[in-house]
Amino acid sequence: MSKGWERVFFVGCFITQGSSYISAYTYGIMHRLHHAHTDKENDPHSPSNTPNLFGMMWETRNNYRDIHTGKLQVEDKYKKGLPQWPVFDNFAHSWITKAVWTLLYIVIYALLATEWWHFLFLPVTFAMGAFQGAVVNWWAHKFGYRNFKVDNTSRNILPLDIFFWGEAYHNNHHRNPATPNNAHRWFEWDMGYAAMRLLHNLRVIRLVRA
Ligand SMILES: [Zn+2]
Ligand SMILES: [Zn+2]
Repeated sequence: MSKGWERVFFVGCFITQGSSYISAYTYGIMHRLHHAHTDKENDPHSPSNTPNLFGMMWETRNNYRDIHTGKLQVEDKYKKGLPQWPVFDNFAHSWITKAVWTLLYIVIYALLATEWWHFLFLPVTFAMGAFQGAVVNWWAHKFGYRNFKVDNTSRNILPLDIFFWGEAYHNNHHRNPATPNNAHRWFEWDMGYAAMRLLHNLRVIRLVRA
């Protein structure tokens, strides 16, 4: 996509992820490290390296922070061609911005919640980006079925992945990381790929043959 559209999507991530904003640049590096070292010692998030879901979420958070701040030195090959907007990332990651989002969520809950237990969902709202990542990165390396024999623990979570828009076809993705369509069998359908086709037809992005 063009630089202009790239920035539209940066802002889109900011609006939809709010207090748990994830930088496409930093996550891009982390994701490439995950592919390069899947389930091994240098995998930034693997259920094989951590005792439970929250342990993995904490480790993912620390690795993300260290890549973002530069504390974790990463080879240049992992940074090549990633979208970058450091000024915006710093603004979106700042404590003040996160505090404003947090207040906004509390106000929205206060206006809409009709039962006390609705407020129990607030922590999930604060960290929704982290939870979404954790569900894919934990479950898709633990439970589900496989289409391909690969040298890692990746699995497809559900035959019909309508919740993660194709991201949960994780075994397929580890087998063919460069293909935009994560569906493989006749019953699998990747809604994320359908969205990409639409954006391609609207000339927002250009799909290239992998
Ligand atoms: Zn994986
Ligand atoms: Zn990937």
